[in-house]
Amino acid sequence: MSDKDGKKPLGLGGGRPGQVKQSFSHGRTKSVVVETKRKRVVVPKAGAGATGDKPRVTPESAAAAVAASSRRPAGLSEAEMERRLRALAAAKAREEEETAQRAAEEKAREEERERRRAEIEAKEREDREREEALRAKEEEDARRTREAAEAAEAEKAARAAARRDETTARAGAAAGAGAGAAARTPRKPASPAGQTPQDRAAAEAAAARAETKGVSATGPRRSSPGSDRDRNDRDARGKTAGRDENRRAGKLSLNQALEGGEGGRQRSLAAMKRKQEKARQKAMGGAMRAEKQARDVQLPETIVVSELANRMAERAADVVKALMKMGMMVTANQTIDADTAELVIDEFGHNAVRVSDADVEQVIDTVEDKTEDLQSRPPIITIMGHVDHGKTSLLDAIRKANVVSGEAGGITQHIGAYQVTTESGAVLTFLDTPGHAAFTSMRARGAQVTDIVVLVVAADDAVMPQTVEAINHAKAAKVPMIVAINKVDKPQADPQKVRTDLLQHEVVVEAMSGEVQDVEVSAKTGLGLDNLLEAIALQAEILELKANPKRAAQGAVIEAQLDVGRGPVATVLVQNGTLKRGDIFVVGEQWGKVRALINDKGERVDEAAPSVPVEVLGLNGTPEAGDVLNVVDTEAHAREIADYRMQAAKDKRAAAGAAITLDQMLAKAKADENVAELPVVVKADVQGSAEAIVQALEKVGNDEVRVRVLHYGVGAITESDIGLAEASRAPVIGFNVRANAPARNAANQKGVEIRYYSIIYDLVDDIKAAASGLLSAEVRENFIGYAEIKETFRVSGVGTVAGCLVTEGVARRSAGVRLLRDNVVIHEGTLKTLKRFKDEVKEVQSGQECGMAFENYDDIRKGDVIEIFEREEVERKL
Ligand code: GDP
Ligand code: MG
Repeated sequence: MSDKDGKKPLGLGGGRPGQVKQSFSHGRTKSVVVETKRKRVVVPKAGAGATGDKPRVTPESAAAAVAASSRRPAGLSEAEMERRLRALAAAKAREEEETAQRAAEEKAREEERERRRAEIEAKEREDREREEALRAKEEEDARRTREAAEAAEAEKAARAAARRDETTARAGAAAGAGAGAAARTPRKPASPAGQTPQDRAAAEAAAARAETKGVSATGPRRSSPGSDRDRNDRDARGKTAGRDENRRAGKLSLNQALEGGEGGRQRSLAAMKRKQEKARQKAMGGAMRAEKQARDVQLPETIVVSELANRMAERAADVVKALMKMGMMVTANQTIDADTAELVIDEFGHNAVRVSDADVEQVIDTVEDKTEDLQSRPPIITIMGHVDHGKTSLLDAIRKANVVSGEAGGITQHIGAYQVTTESGAVLTFLDTPGHAAFTSMRARGAQVTDIVVLVVAADDAVMPQTVEAINHAKAAKVPMIVAINKVDKPQADPQKVRTDLLQHEVVVEAMSGEVQDVEVSAKTGLGLDNLLEAIALQAEILELKANPKRAAQGAVIEAQLDVGRGPVATVLVQNGTLKRGDIFVVGEQWGKVRALINDKGERVDEAAPSVPVEVLGLNGTPEAGDVLNVVDTEAHAREIADYRMQAAKDKRAAAGAAITLDQMLAKAKADENVAELPVVVKADVQGSAEAIVQALEKVGNDEVRVRVLHYGVGAITESDIGLAEASRAPVIGFNVRANAPARNAANQKGVEIRYYSIIYDLVDDIKAAASGLLSAEVRENFIGYAEIKETFRVSGVGTVAGCLVTEGVARRSAGVRLLRDNVVIHEGTLKTLKRFKDEVKEVQSGQECGMAFENYDDIRKGDVIEIFEREEVERKL
């Protein structure tokens, strides 16, 4: 195992070894415990374990193996659907996240601006302080001015005397009474007057020097005649010197004083004090602010630094600084864990209030049901099995049989589940969404909906890979199985082979004297359907399924969509309690009030009892399949819980998305060299897939070689992913996502391999093969064209048709198609029509327009891109 020596691939955020964190942070509500941090564990699929053999592989050979291997999914697991649909929501979430990040950045910038403003203000304050001081001295100076005037008077008299003895006076000045000294001691009786211009220049220069040294040249000189002109000179000089001084020290000159007084920029003393106090605090550092308010800071399991700052009402820069002191180099946009955040909160003198789901969600009624309240409820059945073994046909056959016996000619509403009544009167609820991904993802989101799995195996085909998958899923969920051996009407059917095949997978059917019921059926002819239903009813009896119809309802969303006419609609399978019209509820990150309930027959009903599927109208937003619905008592509670969950989900996404810089990643990648590594970069459509893939890949390898996930994330493959991959000579793996155009170009230029997958098993198998140097037979997938949807229109009988322009390559009627929205695969399938003008055609070339419609898929939009691909078997060469 790769974790053995403590080295882990560069997973991001909270990727803990041995555990996959689902990105969906909510849902399970059955056992709500205060302060319990929930861990979601996704059971890794079969085959994801470490390889038993330990071949010696160098990094080069491993990389070469990856390069050579490019097996593609040989078929779309039809139940990847749900994930695809969710991809859009995820994209939207990412957008929100980005917006939030931009907002945070903007905030940081704003803070920086604020800081600058504060600095400028502080400067201004200094100036004003000086002015204040000036005013204080004003009186004094005015006095001096008066004195000076008197002195001038005296000087006048003196001059008369001086004239009488000019020579003596000059000698005195030359003897160095010193203009500077005169300037420094202004109030001393002046040295003999009658200076020459030279003398005056020298004196002024000295005065200027004196002033620059910080010695103020206050007071008038009395030595020169013509005091008016002199005054002007002084003023000019004073202004220059004064400005100089302002920049240096707070010394004063008379002229400054006069200027200040005349400028009129008066401030109240209180304002001055406030400013001074602010500056003092600033000098002491933000963390030690006096009289600051201690806040209760709500602290989830992870939090973005800027959000933490926000909640403390501190500046993000200060928080970053505090973290730095603690040895954590993070930016305002990065996410830190609750423990670190708590230290920061303490540091700032606030109180950390840890919040967990339980705190907010406590209002959800979790009281245990009393045994006497419990009544038996219908079983909920999911049909699973390999593709084309007849799951859909069987569901249809069961439903049709029921419709005919029920309401003659009645149209069955498709709401994602339906109920049938067996001949013996037992009611059964079938989930209408067959497939493994739906089953597991619902389970991963906390909704264990299924009571019984019907495993469909075609008698003419026997046990196939997805049959094994289904078996493992059922076992992992501890859900009992019933084997339906289908297509027994076919001449080449061999039910016995199915039974013996199943033995290898530890499924021992009754016919082989085991425990698992097996029923031979034909979805086509209807043969054995009754037996199947009775077998299910029997199994349900054994399970003794019970629920309390009298309590507040709890249910699971099995389908949800935004309906144009009706708003958000969710099909909810009530699991306990009774859901009634008017009930207020929270479901995942949404809440609402039941406006209407519609059953599987399209009828409006007032309530839905346990195991009854109903469409619920009255939601404020569209929840996701697998979300759990809980009825609560007030709208405020519902809203609070929904808000909390939304925030928690956001925090979690941010935590997962907090980017490590490329440099950091490379440094780490270079750090350990002793084990041969197969580096990979993984991008996926949703967080859950990304984590599941990383988890599975971490298990690949042994002591000599292991897979190293350099980076994983959600969304389109970008240039930065390519850069990282190039540096480590790693392939980039896209799971239901595509590279955007710049990334595609970069990859071509740099020779970085991009590999697309839509089935986790294929991905893991390929990597496993590459890591062990073994290459298996491969099916290669070639992209043969791309088309862009210019507009869509509804055509009766056909459904939604896309008016497209083939932008690259060729569109081929027989080829496989994928629908990409924002580089995320949201559907994979085949074309129902390919039209050029009015004609059905086999091919449409690049540059031409055409009409396309998907088989069994309608949600196409303008701007979506259709990827056209073909698969070919390739002989493996070594
Ligand atoms: P899914 O992929 O498991 O949902 O399989 P489908 O229900 O789409 O069936 C695949 C193909 O098998 C279709 O062409 C069906 O008509 C055919 N099929 C399903 N059940 C039977 C059956 O009982 N007998 C025969 N002969 N064909 C069947
Ligand atoms: Mg099907």
